[in-house]
Amino acid sequence: GIRFEKVVKRFGGNVVLRGLDFTVAPGERVTLIGPSGSGKTTILRLLMTLERPDEGLIWVGDDTLWHMDRGDKRVPANQKHLHEMRKRIGMVFQQFNLFPNMNVLRNLTEGPVRVLGVPKDEAVERARGLLDMVGLSDKIDAHPSQLSGGQQQRVAIARALAMEPRVLLLDEVTSALDPELVVGVQDLLRDIARQSDLTLLCVTHEMTFAKDISDRVLMFDEGQIVEEGPPEQIFGEPSEQRTRDFLQAVL
Ligand code: ATP
Repeated sequence: GIRFEKVVKRFGGNVVLRGLDFTVAPGERVTLIGPSGSGKTTILRLLMTLERPDEGLIWVGDDTLWHMDRGDKRVPANQKHLHEMRKRIGMVFQQFNLFPNMNVLRNLTEGPVRVLGVPKDEAVERARGLLDMVGLSDKIDAHPSQLSGGQQQRVAIARALAMEPRVLLLDEVTSALDPELVVGVQDLLRDIARQSDLTLLCVTHEMTFAKDISDRVLMFDEGQIVEEGPPEQIFGEPSEQRTRDFLQAVL
């Protein structure tokens, strides 16, 4: 699972996370919703160790991403530790971020072979299975530039899963897609979420998708969780005014 404990993140004078506390249980599927610019992507970037918190602790499983010294200061974990932590976490981005100079197969085998030390033929077998699952077996030799946005995102999802992460982070994964491609990618992710025991943390502006994919929804605003609950409650009968205002604006 994931746990944020009193996490503070500032960019200069801009306090983006104000003592953020939340947990995602192992195997739980949680969606973060909230206004644009409120810090949702920052939460995912902290988990990917692309950003460092100013205060507080972030746990993935039983380990913190950053070590604390006796003065209660975060000190950078050593590279080996960060490397081990990163292996547990997969992320799918808004902008696909495939390796442009590698074909689809290599996009799926490069990480497992180089980072995890999986034997090449085993990685290829796994890649074939994943491409079959995302419906792109016929594109195994294609380069990303030869694929549609929806196909690229399917490859990106397969690539993340090829690393066999325990935690999967989804950041606005359909917002760069043409409208007719959105549903297919959402359906794929919903099936994956239902069939696997992955811990899932998803940021989305698509409320139907949030409803479909989550066990629990966190409404986030001004650096903190405003309200949380099962999707039926958050979308059906939100108790906070800020949640009602937000949903009214996006629905
Ligand atoms: P959106 O839904 O529009 O993607 P968000 O909720 O994901 O927004 P973030 O991208 O996390 O929001 O940004 C939160 C705030 O932090 C914004 O005010 C943004 O300008 C600021 N911010 C994010 N990254 C940086 C950075 N590297 N340097 C300075 N400010 C940053």
